Amino acid sequence: MTTTDFAGLTAVVTGGASGIGLATASLLAERGARVAVLDLDPASLKEPLVGFTADVSDDASVRAAVDAAADAFGGIDVVVNCAGISAIGTVEDNPDEQWGRVLDVNLVGVVRTIRAALPYLRRSENASVVNIGSIVVTTGLPQRALYAAGKGAVMSLTLSMAADHVREGIRFNCVNPGTVDTPWVGRLLDAAADPAAERAALNARQPTGRMVTAEEVAAAIAYLASPAAASVTGTALAVDGGMAGLRLRPA
Ligand code: NAD
Repeated sequence: MTTTDFAGLTAVVTGGASGIGLATASLLAERGARVAVLDLDPASLKEPLVGFTADVSDDASVRAAVDAAADAFGGIDVVVNCAGISAIGTVEDNPDEQWGRVLDVNLVGVVRTIRAALPYLRRSENASVVNIGSIVVTTGLPQRALYAAGKGAVMSLTLSMAADHVREGIRFNCVNPGTVDTPWVGRLLDAAADPAAERAALNARQPTGRMVTAEEVAAAIAYLASPAAASVTGTALAVDGGMAGLRLRPA
């Protein structure tokens, strides 16, 4: 039986052309939502997903895409912020320009999308924002200081925005994925001398013996975005195979 709990609702998913964002956009559409995907290059998207070209590091482009999505669908009920970029290295490895670039996409990009969508969310009966943090927010990870700082800020932003907007009925939650088998991780594995061996080792390091799937993260996002979570706001949900809860360290 297909659940249709998003029937009549409209969702905007940034970074929805790949990985977790694509799995989320597809699941929300399957469950009845009209879904607008905002991405750098949404050309690969298939119906019923509707792509809008947007760069979350460019405020004008985000505003134009959010307004166009709202115009096309008659409003916005759900925002899922998946767009993000990787950053590897220590604090000393990353100069100011790199800090600026990564935080501009991973943190301010989330702010821009929410700010553009807020006027529409205020008119919704199921206004919900789900931001994507990361397991590294609570566990730390070598070579990820910049990335973790941005994701930690996304989690803090989520909690404070939940407080700011709770009386308006707009919910804000965060999902902190562990290691998820997406093109993002695929690119890291491809850079290894032996990608297949590296993939096997990465799976073996997970508490469950395998990476999280994008579909598993999408299911958690969909719950938080759905009317079933009407009383859930200001939370951060780990979808990490138990890594953070078991006090293990990702590697
Ligand atoms: P992915 O690379 O498969 O997808 C990311 C998408 O974001 C791509 O479609 C890309 O085009 C889009 N994007 C990047 N920069 C953009 C910009 N400036 N404007 C608009 N779109 C942009 O990655 P993924 O693994 O699906 O990751 C999605 C989110 O989940 C990211 O925020 C990432 O930090 C987070 N995350 C991923 C993992 C993991 O293990 N894969 C773990 C924890 C958190």
